[in-house]
Amino acid sequence: MSKQRETLGFQTEVRQLLQLMIHSLYSNKEIFLRELISNASDAADKLRFEALANPDLSADDTDLGISIEVNKAERTLSVVDNGIGMSRDELIDNLGTIAKSGTAEFLQQMTGDKQHDAHLIGQFGVGFYSAFIVADKVSVQTRRAGADADAAVHWESAGEGEFTIENIEREERGTRVTLHLKDDESEFAESPRIESLIRKYSDHIGFPVSLSAIDEESAEAKIVNSATALWTRSRSEVTEDEYKEFYKHLSHDFADPLTWSHNRVEGKREYTSLLYIPGAAPFDMWNREAPRGLKLYVQRVFIMDDAEQFLPLYLRFVKGVVDSSDLPLNVSRELLQQNPDLTAMRSALTRRVLDMLKKIAADKEDYQKFWGEFGQVLKEGLVEDSGNKDKLAKLLRFATTHNDNDTQDQSLDDYLQRAKDEQQKIYYILAETYATAIASPHIEQLRSRGVEVLLLTDRIDAWLAESLAEYEGKTLVDVAREALDIPDEGDEKAQDELDDKQKSLLQKMQGKLSERVESVTASRRLVDSPACVVASEQDLNPQVRRMLEASGQELPAAKPILEINIGHPLVTRLSGETDDGRFGALSNIVLDHALLAEGSQLPNPAEYVQRMNEFLLGTDNGADNE
Ligand code: ADP
Repeated sequence: MSKQRETLGFQTEVRQLLQLMIHSLYSNKEIFLRELISNASDAADKLRFEALANPDLSADDTDLGISIEVNKAERTLSVVDNGIGMSRDELIDNLGTIAKSGTAEFLQQMTGDKQHDAHLIGQFGVGFYSAFIVADKVSVQTRRAGADADAAVHWESAGEGEFTIENIEREERGTRVTLHLKDDESEFAESPRIESLIRKYSDHIGFPVSLSAIDEESAEAKIVNSATALWTRSRSEVTEDEYKEFYKHLSHDFADPLTWSHNRVEGKREYTSLLYIPGAAPFDMWNREAPRGLKLYVQRVFIMDDAEQFLPLYLRFVKGVVDSSDLPLNVSRELLQQNPDLTAMRSALTRRVLDMLKKIAADKEDYQKFWGEFGQVLKEGLVEDSGNKDKLAKLLRFATTHNDNDTQDQSLDDYLQRAKDEQQKIYYILAETYATAIASPHIEQLRSRGVEVLLLTDRIDAWLAESLAEYEGKTLVDVAREALDIPDEGDEKAQDELDDKQKSLLQKMQGKLSERVESVTASRRLVDSPACVVASEQDLNPQVRRMLEASGQELPAAKPILEINIGHPLVTRLSGETDDGRFGALSNIVLDHALLAEGSQLPNPAEYVQRMNEFLLGTDNGADNE
């Protein structure tokens, strides 16, 4: 181990983050104090946890706490804790790199626009580095619990490209972070200002936070916060603001949460939970490896961050704390998995979250905020958690033909309320985009009869529809499937009532297209379009097929059914076509267009273009019909 002073460069991402943070968070600068106190409190939590197995770690000083020292003359502010501390290597890792995967991609989304970037950084979570918003130099002295006094380390940086690190002697365990405040930030060296900030942001910290002004006559430290962990207090004693601040401490988010739920469960199993729905999705919500889960305490002793066993994956956006009275203090992730109480706790917590969402849903505007951020994740629940299918189904929101835009704000209940009494089905279309869905030939007839169709365009929707299968006794029906029974349907277009001419047209087309389609039939779903393709009942939906193929799966070729709008002028034109070559070409073009209209790729685009060109020129097979 080198005891020499060493200068090291920050990881590129840290450098970028520092720049952006200083620039975009300036109007929120006071949050640095909350971040540093949160870190100090986490450090105390971690020490208490490690000391469960190894009491020597904290034996020399068992009163865990945080002290803030301000020095007006020197323009410094220090946050001191007697928590776990850091070794040299930990210090280099923790305060020189960012461990969150996806950070580089995330930082690329920054635009330089303050508000936009501030919002993004909020999703990322600010931390230690926020000290550089107000300081032009930050130093950290730290000694890992259990390490010798001469293994302490001093870290220092001006928040630009690099930091220095060297070994020092330190009597106390834990960490002292000192901010050398910028010229115009001297307010943060004033104790009344800091006192009010601690009250505002850190009152709920479970350790005493004391404040002392070093350069004043009586440099006595006074305890400023109430030092009881917020979730251990009774609901009626906690104010809205305190709940919000606690959320920010937990999540490192600096925007308010959407809502929360705080409960104590007594009886066979005893635990307290405090669960929050954030206002915005975190930057790494789609990264399946990103840490998620609740902060676990056992009898008020912190045990672990990101205990993912308490909630299903589709509720990974929930933040919060669970404090159990029954779990053993030595519980590990592995032991948690095997704990018989856990299943019951998990389903109770899941229900609690779903109830919270139901409450938000009572306010359409609030729920839209939630849905916009987390709707797609919640949809995973239909596939993942069949036990809560009914509750989840009520929470879904869709774009439908009822709206004239792509907003997903209609519930299944809204849909059924509008449906005519005799309508036995819930119709939906799967498509890649809203534009394709709304213009799809498949829904023409339904729309013309005033039957509403759900427009499903999210990747997960095919699985969602399949898992949901029915709602309130009404089956969900894919409009791009062979059998589609349309309510109120006149049977004037039924296949068996086709006249001979029409029948022979269908047969002739089928002859021409036999390589490409299973069959050609008269359609009941079209109004304006000449044709559409549908999947037979046993086949995969084309949307699902496209997705699976895109993910590299090889699927057996499936021929679709071509449905023809028998009264369409183009079909009439086709039926009058006497030239066999031109009949074949036009039949193929009708099929190609039906595929294009539903967003499918043509199997052979060049062939299509050639066919079309020849047809437009009227030179197909040299025949001229005019
Ligand atoms: P976060 O707290 O979100 O992980 P930070 O940038 O605030 O991110 O801190 C990075 C890491 O540095 C923390 O995870 C922790 O391991 C370590 N750290 C920060 N402050 C302290 C402290 N006061 N005592 C011990 N470790 C600390």
